[in-house]
Amino acid sequence: MTKQKVFSEKQLPQNIQSYLEEHVDLKVWDKSTQMPRELLLKEIKDVQGLITTGSAINEELLQQAPELKAVSTISVGYNHFDTEAMRKYKVIGTHTPYVLDDTVADLVMALMLSAARRIPELDAMTKRGEWKKGDDNPRFGVDVHHKKLGIIGMGRIGETIAKRGKNGFDMEVSYFNRSRKPEVEEKLHIEYKSKDDLLSESDFIVLMVPLSPETKHFIGEKEFKQMKNSAIFINASRGQTVDEQAMIEALQKGEILAAGLDVFEQEPVEPTNPLLTMKNVVTLPHIGSATAETRNAMAMLAAKNLVAALTGKGTYYSV
Ligand code: NAP
Repeated sequence: MTKQKVFSEKQLPQNIQSYLEEHVDLKVWDKSTQMPRELLLKEIKDVQGLITTGSAINEELLQQAPELKAVSTISVGYNHFDTEAMRKYKVIGTHTPYVLDDTVADLVMALMLSAARRIPELDAMTKRGEWKKGDDNPRFGVDVHHKKLGIIGMGRIGETIAKRGKNGFDMEVSYFNRSRKPEVEEKLHIEYKSKDDLLSESDFIVLMVPLSPETKHFIGEKEFKQMKNSAIFINASRGQTVDEQAMIEALQKGEILAAGLDVFEQEPVEPTNPLLTMKNVVTLPHIGSATAETRNAMAMLAAKNLVAALTGKGTYYSV
């Protein structure tokens, strides 16, 4: 039987490429740079499967891929999928939940600790040789342990962060979510709060909702004003869940103490973005899941999802 054609717009580790080659006729974009859209549109003309990371899977692309049956993203967020258009064209979408939860939760803790203890700022100062004998500047940060942690979005990753906050740092953890999670409340001894109460009472606020029309600018001017002046805000979800301009103003006016950001409204972040020059903002280039082990596990899951969706054998995580 002839194998189905799959195009991957992302280079894959050898073991994953070998797995795919056993099952499908694979072609891979052989550069580490982002594939230009017009080339992608050419490559997909006769394929049944596509492996992607962030390219818009929309009407424009689907129209040009009459044989496409499944698109597998190596990510858990799938806001680049136009799910309505994919349903219309009967194209299955799959993603990679669960395998990255611990890795993203670790990074969120790192952002909290970095912002609270001013680690990047003081690391840079130490390396500049500005730590002088007799220098008694205390360079105070704020504690993380025993503080109030409010998590917005109690999904797979939110729960994993809650566990760390509660069990690792003795924090008082609360959450806001679209639906209440009584089993998680009971298991982790965490409390559900309204969005307003969570924002006004928390010392650390972590945003972990998926990007959707309802969550675009979920945190904006009003929400930053509700936060304590001592609050530290962490976003590791998607850049557009936050009104970045409002966040910049809140930080400039001292309405919140600090921020830890893995994501930005525009990525890669513009070099002129004021957030990049603020000492009380920790900035990272969207590396939530970026460890060698986890990225490998995500790519393998994406490959298995795609093979299962194309062959009808086995299960896959559909979006
Ligand atoms: P998940 O398990 O689907 O959890 C998302 C949670 O958000 C769910 O509990 C959901 O509520 C809640 N939610 C959705 N819309 C909401 C709304 N309008 N108001 C309040 N709550 C809402 O997803 P996950 O695996 O935890 O991942 C969350 C997001 O993190 C991903 O979508 C992705 O964008 C981001 N992410 C970022 C990185 C990174 O590298 N920085 C890595 C992985 C993921 P229900 O239970 O009611 O549906």
